[in-house]
Amino acid sequence: MTQKVRVRFAPSPTGPLHIGGVRTALFNYLFAKKHKGDFILRIEDTDQNRFVEGAEQYIVDSLNWCGIPFDEGPSSPTAKGNTFGKYGPYRQSERKHLYKKFAQDLIEKGMAYYAFDTAEKLDFHRKDHEEKGKTFIYNWHNRLKLDNSLSMMPEDVQRRIDAGEDYVIRFLTPPDEKLHLTDIIRGDIEIDTNTLDDKVLFKSDGMPTYHLANIVDDHLMEISHVIRGEEWLPSLALHQQLYDAFGWKAPQFAHLPLIMKPVGKGKLSKRDGEKGGFPVFPLSWNESVGYREAGYFPEAVVNFLVLLGWNPGTEQELFTLEELVDSFSLERVNKSGARFDPDKTKWYNQQYMHQKDDATLAEAFLLHLKEKGITSTTNDYVQKVVSLIKDRATFVSDFWELGDYFFVAPTNYDEKAVKKQWKNDTQEIMQNLASFMNGIADFSSENVELEVKKWISEKELSFGKVMPPLRLVLVGDMKGPHIFDIMALIGKEESMERINKAISALA
Ligand code: GLU
Repeated sequence: MTQKVRVRFAPSPTGPLHIGGVRTALFNYLFAKKHKGDFILRIEDTDQNRFVEGAEQYIVDSLNWCGIPFDEGPSSPTAKGNTFGKYGPYRQSERKHLYKKFAQDLIEKGMAYYAFDTAEKLDFHRKDHEEKGKTFIYNWHNRLKLDNSLSMMPEDVQRRIDAGEDYVIRFLTPPDEKLHLTDIIRGDIEIDTNTLDDKVLFKSDGMPTYHLANIVDDHLMEISHVIRGEEWLPSLALHQQLYDAFGWKAPQFAHLPLIMKPVGKGKLSKRDGEKGGFPVFPLSWNESVGYREAGYFPEAVVNFLVLLGWNPGTEQELFTLEELVDSFSLERVNKSGARFDPDKTKWYNQQYMHQKDDATLAEAFLLHLKEKGITSTTNDYVQKVVSLIKDRATFVSDFWELGDYFFVAPTNYDEKAVKKQWKNDTQEIMQNLASFMNGIADFSSENVELEVKKWISEKELSFGKVMPPLRLVLVGDMKGPHIFDIMALIGKEESMERINKAISALA
């Protein structure tokens, strides 16, 4: 029987989730759904010093907003009451009691040891090595000279523990071995164990470190595939050794490429976002604006994220979530870093804007209108406005800039346009046009266009004498969609009123 696919996203709640983290969650989600498996959220909060209030909720809200909900996790439907089903709880701080026995198990097997070296002592060694141009690594070549149970009588070890001395439990890396690691994306990797340090697994405050808690939980939660960022690749050697030491079958590993800066070298950072004026977080966090608040549609965010590191093998750029579930595979994830392109994120938003129906966009625009004090309009009217301007918009927040004149008459007129369009005879032409308009019974766009064009040729006027000033008086400048669509929408009364108002303002 093949193992059921169970994957986890395991963030530490140390702050807002970077979009790189969202992408990791997304790849886990897609992989799980493709294989009819489970997507689990596990909160890795063993490092209480780095705990940030609100970060866990932020993570949950972000996944939900992106439309990639987890099947199991803190407060998930499967985590009923306090029993949490078979695999919970899903916060490591609530699993604290589980880890110690695993650390002790390794000590008993001779695969881990107690170390009493104080922080000051280790600091001293580090500095001392630095001065000599070397790096201090706690491992096979010096561990017998350091303050640990490897060179102590068992009674002495117990005495120091009983006396309440601080200690850590370190993994005893076997020397002179070649480890063979496999990563789905990176292939086979060989590591010489002599280059590794004896990592801390457990601390005397009763808390496991990331490494121990992570592999114990992956084992107990029956995780089949570990899909995580490239920055965790250096931990793979230790994790593989821990699985072997416990005699557990290791999950398969896939380390995702980094998301790189738009220009230059290195990983995309919060500072890049600040400099380039684009979000790097899914939702706003303190003064950092998120994709949601910047007006992005979650589908657009999912779509641009998935193509950072994965390629479908075709030219297709727009995908629904279902299509992604269908076509996703870890084999098509690249090894090399994926450059982040802020302009492309906007392009995606535009594409989804065009796909959205007018009713949905009108709903969103109505909220903006309310903020602008426009409360007397109707959903139906706003839908019609949206249908005329959405092709030019990237965000719903662009609608106001593109179509404010649908809601308020212009109060001033673009100076340059006035200079160019408002000639000596314009006032008279506009006056005549207004009284002609008054007589048009059917004020639909098509009919007004027909009638006005007829009137222009009957009066032997040129289009250039009528149409540009007409736009100027209705809109306030030369922007906007088809002028007769605008007239039909704002209506006969309003159109005439705007002409008359402009005449007195520009006289
Ligand atoms: N807690 C780690 C993090 O913050 C998880 C790494 C992993 O997935 O193993 O990313």
